[in-house]
Amino acid sequence: MNVYAIPLRNRFRGITVREGMLLRGPAGWGEFCPFADYSDAESVPWLRAAVEATEAGWPTPVRDRVEVNTTVPVVTPEKAYDLVRASGCRTAKVKVADPRSSLTDDCDRVAAVRDALGPAGAIRVDANTAWDVDTAVRAITDLDKAAGGLEYAEQPVPSIEDLAAVRRRVPVRIAADESIRRAEDPLKVAVAGAADIAVLKVAPLGGVRRALEVAEACGLPCVVSSAVETSVGLAAGLALAGALPSLEFACGLGTISLLEGDVCVPSLSPVDGYLPVLHQAPEPTDAYPASAEVQAAWQARLQRVRGFS
Ligand SMILES: [Mg+2]
Repeated sequence: MNVYAIPLRNRFRGITVREGMLLRGPAGWGEFCPFADYSDAESVPWLRAAVEATEAGWPTPVRDRVEVNTTVPVVTPEKAYDLVRASGCRTAKVKVADPRSSLTDDCDRVAAVRDALGPAGAIRVDANTAWDVDTAVRAITDLDKAAGGLEYAEQPVPSIEDLAAVRRRVPVRIAADESIRRAEDPLKVAVAGAADIAVLKVAPLGGVRRALEVAEACGLPCVVSSAVETSVGLAAGLALAGALPSLEFACGLGTISLLEGDVCVPSLSPVDGYLPVLHQAPEPTDAYPASAEVQAAWQARLQRVRGFS
């Protein structure tokens, strides 16, 4: 059992270091890495996902590779162009609605990404719940124009009701991400007509099998995204993406570059915009060991979360 602490290249969810535990069992390695603000009860599905990987392994995949998107943070249009060209990906997710960036800046960045991808590429934007309904309608309309067509807009507003309201008013598909954190949520989103696409993450949904059940029950096309795990956790996301009966869109699993390093050599880094589907997680090294205090805190957390499940 290893506890790692890996610096992030950019602050994310208010954290600068990603921490988690790597667990080993008869079926291989699993990753237990709920964010620090998750309660023990909320961390139970994260442990279930890790235990699935260590004890049961994953279902048989139906594809052997998964297309992934590159992510464009809040940077200048020139930098955005270079990032997309260097990524080799055909789909880009552009972060918008950040306090450091106006709608005009966002439109300029999206237009530069279109130049970099060419007409065949796909551009999605992610507002991470930042807008209200009217702002979202105006912004999505402008961004769609600047992009020469958006693939979808991810979580423009916080609530399921408001997602449904935005969806009725724009010609762009809406994806739900933050609205889907527990197994029941995707069903609510689908019933409310709040989204065209569901973003699924293995750990908060409690494992690959549970996420497959959720995908089937909600009946929406799904995009699999990471929770910024090491390659051990990314392998579980790839197992889900590999096992979904249909996979229409590139997945958000090309995230290892958000971390300064990885516990696995080589890392699951996209090549030509694709990642492989593995039958088990790659073997981790003991790189980026956490301090003794941090290790003890994770041991204690693991015991408490086990007590809940
Ligand atoms: Mg998102």
